[in-house]
Amino acid sequence: MYGSLWSVDRLVKRDMDGIEDIRGNYLRVLEQIDSAARSAGRNPATVRLLVVTKGHPVETVHQAVAAGIRLLGENYVEEALEKMQTLASQAIGSPGELEWHMIGHLQSRKARLVCQHFACLHSLDSLKLAERLDRFAAELGRKLPVLLECNVSGEQTKFGYPVWREDTWHEFVGEFSRLLELPHLQVRGLMTMAPFFDQPEPARPYFQRLRRFQAFLVKSLPLSDWAELSMGMSGDFTVAVQEGATLVRVGTAILGARDLRID
Ligand SMILES: *Cc1c(COP(=O)(O)O)cnc(C)c1O
Repeated sequence: MYGSLWSVDRLVKRDMDGIEDIRGNYLRVLEQIDSAARSAGRNPATVRLLVVTKGHPVETVHQAVAAGIRLLGENYVEEALEKMQTLASQAIGSPGELEWHMIGHLQSRKARLVCQHFACLHSLDSLKLAERLDRFAAELGRKLPVLLECNVSGEQTKFGYPVWREDTWHEFVGEFSRLLELPHLQVRGLMTMAPFFDQPEPARPYFQRLRRFQAFLVKSLPLSDWAELSMGMSGDFTVAVQEGATLVRVGTAILGARDLRID
């Protein structure tokens, strides 16, 4: 199908190879999500696959879009904006077609940019940041969907609400209920990162803990929507899906190793 292009230009051939590789990886991850969901008695259609493009050049994002990927995640606001602008200038992914989620730690001073350019923020971790986002979202006349990032492991290097001790959970209800009153934020659920292991299985207790915290919030703040659980990355998404993930954030397993910067 790509016959003429393959012969004329090695660059184009490299692009086509890239697209095919990404497409193959993407379909394989979708299949793994499918069977993990079924193995846990879940409907696979309730799990969305977010492809994490941080650390990859815009050419790779272009290939991912050509491979049929529309839901994209980035960690750094400036890096993401650069890619969005380049893609827009090449008329790739017309407005509304691509859905960008901000999944990395967000500094307050970049709150406005997130309101302007992202469909969802996974890493809300303070009332102060929430209030800033709410103000900018109001100015822009929109409601910003957000997830509350939770540190379920106690690792110092992780961001998020420190919820690893279950006997402290009641302490979060006050702050969360204030956050839920902000009219231009739409809290949809929770996000976490498990500690890094070289096997998926050891991550399971951390995903189970986030799920229990979700159940606690459903009971404590029942008028709100806690449905989304953003959890699972390349190394552990299968167990995350078994434990209830509705959004998995996968980079390396689809796009390969990152070369722009190390996180
Ligand atoms: C980088 C990153 C991912 C994707 O990690 P991979 O191991 O490459 O799949 C997911 N979530 C967050 C928050 C990240 O920073």
